[in-house]
Amino acid sequence: MNIIIFGPPGAGKGTQAKILVQKLNSFQVSTGEMLRDEIKRDTEIGKKILNNMEHGKFVSDEIVNKLLENIIFDSKKKKLIFDGYPRTLNQAKNLESLLSKSNKKIDYIFFLNVNKDAILKRIEKRKILEKRSDDDANTILTRYDIYMKETKPLLDFYSSHEGFHEVDGSLGIDEITSKIGLILNV
Ligand code: AMP
Repeated sequence: MNIIIFGPPGAGKGTQAKILVQKLNSFQVSTGEMLRDEIKRDTEIGKKILNNMEHGKFVSDEIVNKLLENIIFDSKKKKLIFDGYPRTLNQAKNLESLLSKSNKKIDYIFFLNVNKDAILKRIEKRKILEKRSDDDANTILTRYDIYMKETKPLLDFYSSHEGFHEVDGSLGIDEITSKIGLILNV
């Protein structure tokens, strides 16, 4: 079973993805974490993306799509939970094409819907806990604006999918987990 967790920055995509990974014995595909790891390891990719990441801008589709390809064609990673990918229409189409080449498909899409004020409050707390440089007040506004412009329109692409479900992302972690769990029967 392959699942996309979709929503604005700070919606709790990573948190819910990690919980599903445990419950479903699956693999979390977090492009954000993969990119942060490239920066930490100071790789060629890491050097290229540092500036964009720190300023809350997207990393190029070319780089992100390449990272993704390596995972989709890894035969050991059978059940995938996508968190933070796709973020553009180009990425969504790329995902469809890669999945169909490897005889996989998306079974569920959970849209965690949270309003801007709630996001800003959450990110303020996360900044203290996780010390992410892109969680400062200005950068989060940029990330939110880019989400509204580039990523939210993907709802048109996904909302007619039979596995699409909108979940109130302003609820607490456990409540969101149980709503998703009811749908997946886990
Ligand atoms: P996240 O951890 O999902 O909040 O992502 C953190 C940052 O990584 C984003 O603000 C982007 O700079 C970059 N990033 C993560 N996933 C993608 C993606 N699918 N496309 C482009 N940039 C991404």
